[in-house]
Amino acid sequence: MSNDILVLAEHQDNKVKKISLELLSKATGLASQTGGSVSAVLIGSDVEGAARQLAPYGAKKVYLVSGASFEKYNTIAYSQAMAAVVERAKPGIVLGTASPMGKDLIPRLAAKLKAGFASECTDLRIEPAGSVPGGKLVGHRPIYSGKVFVDVVFNSAVQMATTRANSFPTKSPQEGANAELVKVDVGGETTLRCPMKQMEKGETGKVDLTEAEVIISGGRALGNTENFKILREMADVIGATVGASRAAVDSGYAPHDIQVGQTGKVVNPKLYIACGISGAIQHLAGMRTSKVIVAINKDPEAPIFQKADYGVVGDLFTVVPLLTQEFKKVLAE
Ligand SMILES: Cc1cc2nc3c(=O)[nH]c(=O)nc-3n(C[C@H](O)[C@H](O)[C@H](O)COP(=O)(O)OP(=O)(O)OC[C@H]3O[C@@H](n4cnc5c(N)ncnc54)[C@H](O)[C@@H]3O)c2cc1C
Repeated sequence: MSNDILVLAEHQDNKVKKISLELLSKATGLASQTGGSVSAVLIGSDVEGAARQLAPYGAKKVYLVSGASFEKYNTIAYSQAMAAVVERAKPGIVLGTASPMGKDLIPRLAAKLKAGFASECTDLRIEPAGSVPGGKLVGHRPIYSGKVFVDVVFNSAVQMATTRANSFPTKSPQEGANAELVKVDVGGETTLRCPMKQMEKGETGKVDLTEAEVIISGGRALGNTENFKILREMADVIGATVGASRAAVDSGYAPHDIQVGQTGKVVNPKLYIACGISGAIQHLAGMRTSKVIVAINKDPEAPIFQKADYGVVGDLFTVVPLLTQEFKKVLAE
């Protein structure tokens, strides 16, 4: 088993995503225990600009796969590209983020390469070496909608995992660091049976919920679409992304793409503020790994308070605007 670690780096508009820099930082720490080195993979139509951003975060080598077939994400083309890079780099560990792309790509790659896979990890560690050179990867991940955490170990030569956003601190970049760039040819243009025609940006222009560090979510108690304005106002002040419960979505107060929970998005922010949300198990399934949870609810018996780190018993229509004013004052100082 190789001691090296390969990280799939996601990028947008020629910039490596923060979630990938975070994962690269974690991989660097793991590599210091395995005794191997960290490489990154960039796939796209023009990726050399983004490649320069990876060395300061610990990548010693960056594998580049570029070409017209890779301009937009495509399951078939990207999994072929990743398989070609794994073949070339021969890593013992392959990591990606649990983003929509990572969730689609890494399990397919694992199946293709017959490698063990742990999804949605919130932590990774290396078990002391024992009989295995360089030690073994252990993926710490939630199961049963986050009620229980398990440690996953692998019995395959290549170990693969995806990790949730905001699980690890991003290390300070080491300015001036350089990485070797390795172009990988995956064997001519791939014929795409299902090419992606178009990708549209969400309307809000905010960080996607799955990557957001701060989320303010509204529930059925918001009562209508218009009332979500008070959450958007607070979000603008504190740099948060707005989420919603399924009850709010099903009632037509909020679009489905901001639903948090079992049948919505799984989020992992540093701060989650739940406003007028009861705390049903299906909602908790999507946000219970948040680092700090604040609940605002007028019912002191609401189940969300059992999970919240801080609770405000009160009417959200009074509490939220007051908090927004306070945040404005504090941030202006
Ligand atoms: C298969 C399945 C999948 C599901 N998936 C999801 C999912 O992905 N995400 C999800 O969220 N739910 C999901 N649900 C639904 C879930 O069970 C709950 O019905 C839903 O989460 C409730 O949303 P809510 O908390 O906004 O509404 P409610 O449960 O109605 O709670 C509203 C809360 O607001 C409080 N409140 C009322 N007025 C005020 C006020 N003025 N100020 C402050 N507090 C106030 C009330 O005290 C109450 O606690 C799923 C259910 C099923 C069966």
